[in-house]
Amino acid sequence: MKLGNLVQDQWVEGDGDGRILTSAVTGEPVATITSDGLDFAAILDHAKSVGGPSLRKLTFHERGDMLKALAKHLNDIKKEFYALSTQTGATRRDSWPDIDGGISTMFVFSSKGRREMPNDHVYLDGGVEQLSREGTFVGQHIFTPKLGAAIHINAFNFPCWGMLEKLAPTLLAGVPAIIKPASSTAYLTELMVRRMIESGILPPGSVQLICGGVGDLFDHLTCQDTIAFTGSKTTAEMLQLHPRVVSESVAFTAETDSLNMSILGPDATPGTPEFDLYIKEVTNEMTSKAGQKCTAIRRILAPSAIAADVVRALSSALGEIRIGNPGSKEVDMGALASQGQRDEVRERVTDLSAEAEVVFGGTDDFELVDADSTKGAFFMPTLLHCEKPLSSKAVHSVEAFGPVSTVLPYDSIDEAIELAKLGEGSLAGSIITNDNAVARELVLGTAAYHGRMVIINRHCAAESTGHGSPLAHLVHGGPGRAGGGEEMGGVRGVLHYMQRTAIQGSPETLSVIGHRWIRGADQKDPGVHPFRKTFEQLEIGDTFKSKSREVTLDDIDHFAEFTGDNFYAHMDEEAAARNPFFEGRVAHGYLIVSFAAGLFVDPDFGPVLANYGVDDLRFIQPVNYGDSLKVRLACKQKTLRGDSGYGEVRWDAEVTNQDDEICAQYDVLTMVATDEHWESVR
Ligand code: NAP
Repeated sequence: MKLGNLVQDQWVEGDGDGRILTSAVTGEPVATITSDGLDFAAILDHAKSVGGPSLRKLTFHERGDMLKALAKHLNDIKKEFYALSTQTGATRRDSWPDIDGGISTMFVFSSKGRREMPNDHVYLDGGVEQLSREGTFVGQHIFTPKLGAAIHINAFNFPCWGMLEKLAPTLLAGVPAIIKPASSTAYLTELMVRRMIESGILPPGSVQLICGGVGDLFDHLTCQDTIAFTGSKTTAEMLQLHPRVVSESVAFTAETDSLNMSILGPDATPGTPEFDLYIKEVTNEMTSKAGQKCTAIRRILAPSAIAADVVRALSSALGEIRIGNPGSKEVDMGALASQGQRDEVRERVTDLSAEAEVVFGGTDDFELVDADSTKGAFFMPTLLHCEKPLSSKAVHSVEAFGPVSTVLPYDSIDEAIELAKLGEGSLAGSIITNDNAVARELVLGTAAYHGRMVIINRHCAAESTGHGSPLAHLVHGGPGRAGGGEEMGGVRGVLHYMQRTAIQGSPETLSVIGHRWIRGADQKDPGVHPFRKTFEQLEIGDTFKSKSREVTLDDIDHFAEFTGDNFYAHMDEEAAARNPFFEGRVAHGYLIVSFAAGLFVDPDFGPVLANYGVDDLRFIQPVNYGDSLKVRLACKQKTLRGDSGYGEVRWDAEVTNQDDEICAQYDVLTMVATDEHWESVR
C-alpha cells in the first residue's frame, strides 16, 4: 500500500515507488512512502488561503466543539488503530498512551478551550495596564491566530499522540496544520488522518498530510508560519538553521531527546514502599514502548549505600519481562520500531559500556514469545552500572533510544543535584522519596534543568500518572538538550500558535476590540434594570447605578451576631484603633458585599438565573459606621455556553462611599438566560 498525502483536501500519491516500510515484528512490508512530486508551495498556500480563514470564522468554543466531535469519532473507531499499531512493535499497553492518550489530549483541549477561553475570536492576556494618570489611555495584551500554517514534524515513537497533541492546540488556536509524521510509522498516522477527514468534521484546508520528505516546503515559510518539531537534537538543530527559518524568524518549537533522571531519595531504603515504587517505576519506564520514549528514565540516581540493592531488584524485575510478539497477551515488551533502530541502540550500548558495566541484558541471547529474532527488531532490556558517574561523560550524553538505563550512585544530596544537571536539560525528572524536605531541596536544585518533575511517595503513588507521561494540562518540553521548547500545558499550548500583541488606546476602544468592558469605558444606560435583559439583549457596558445605603453600628452588631464573625476589628473600638489599618470599628468585608448585592439586584423572576461566584474581590477602603455605600454594576463580559440556554455574564462591581472613594471592587459572575430559554420559562 502506497501511503497517501493529503494535499489541498485531496488524497494524492507521491511519484515513484517510494521507500518500503516494514513491520517491526515480522520484517514484512507494511506500506511504501513517498512525497516526491508534491507542490509544497501550493500546500502552504492552501493552508493559508483556505484552512486559516475557515478556522478563524469559528470562535474558540466552536473549535472546542469540533475537537470534541473529532475525539469522539476517533474513540468510536479506535480498534482499527490498535490493530495496526502492533506493526510498530507496540503492545496493547504501549499503544494505549499513543491512541487513547492522543484522543484524551484532544478531549482535554476541547474542554479547556470551552472553559478557559472566551466564546470569541480574540484571547485577552492578563488584565488592563494603567498607562496614564486620568485613565484615558490604557494597555492590554491580546492573542490572535497567526495567519500562516503550523508545520508539525513528528517522531516515530508516537504516531498518534505525537500528531494529536500538536493538532489539538493548533486547531483550537484557529491555525491550519501541515503534518509530517516520521516515515517509519507513518502508516498509522495516515490511517488516523484518513478517518478524521472521512468524518467531515474538519473544515477544508485545516489539515494536510505529507508522508515522506518535506521537499522545498521550508523555502516558502514566512513569519506567520510556525514549526513544532519532535525528534532528535541533530535534526532540530539542522532545521532551526534553515536560512528561511532564520531570515523570517519562523517560530520554532523543538522537543528533542533527553537523558532523563530519576532520583531515589536517601530515605527510600529497601523495605520501604518508596523503594518498591522506584523499582516498579524504573522497570516500567525502561520497558514500556520498549524504552522508545523521549521521557523514559535513562539515568537511575541511587544512594551509593543501596546502589547494589537497586541493581539487584531491577535485574530481578527486568528478568520477569516477557519479550516478543506485541500482539500476544503473554508479552510485556514488544519490538523496537525497526531493525535499523535496534542496531542503533546496540551501538549506543557499546558507547555506554566504555564507562559503565552491563549488569543485566546486553545480549542477543534471550527468549522470545511468538516471534522470530531474525525478522523482528527485538532488544533485551539492558541495565548498566557506572561506578564513577561524576567523572563520566557518555552516561550523561549518549541516548540509547530503547530499553536501556544506567545506575549512577550518589553520596549526598548535593552530588545527586550535580549528577542530575549533567544531563544538560531534560524533559522529565522524578524523585521518589517520602521526605518532603529532601524533595524540596532536590526540586530547587534541579528544576531549572527540567520541563516537568514528578515527586512520588506512598501517598500519591496509586493515582500518580508516573514519570514518563506528558499530560495535556501540563507543559511538555525542556531546556537545553531537550530542545528548549514547550508544548501543551493547557491554554499555554494554544498560545504558541498565536501572536501576542500589546494594544494601547482609550478604555472604550479597547473594550470594543476585546469584548471586555474596562473601567473608564462608556457606561451605557440600558433603559431598564440590566437584570431584566436576556443574554442577547445585554450589551457590554450596560450599567446600573444603585441608590445609597448607610451602614450603622447596629448593622455591624447584627451581622456579627448572625454570622458568628466577632473579629475584634468589627467589635472592639479600642482594639480596632490599635490596628494600623483602622481608626475604630469597621464593617465586615462580607457585610459590604452583602449590602452591595441588596443594592444592585432586581428581585423579580427574570433572565438572570444564578450567581455562581465572585472574582478578584478586593476591599480597598475601610467602611466605618455612618458611611453611605452605593454600587456601580457594569456588564463586563459575555460568554455564551453552547446550546445550554444560558450564557455567563461577568459584571464589574464597584462599591463607593459618600466621598466617592472606592471601598470594594470585584467581578460578579452570573448565568443569564438566552432569548429562547427565557421565552420558554417566563
Ligand atoms: P529524527 O530522525 O530527528 O526525526 C524526527 C522527525 O524529523 C521525523 O519526522 C523525520 O522524518 C523528520 N526529519 C528528518 N530530517 C528532516 C528534514 N531534513 N526535514 C524535515 N524533516 C526531517 O528523530 P527520530 O529518530 O524519528 O526520533 C527519535 C528521537 O526523537 C529520539 O532522540 C527521541 O528522544 C526524540 N523524541 C523526542 C520527543 C519529545 O517529545 N521531546 C518525543 C519522541 C521522540 P523522517 O522519519 O521521514 O526522516
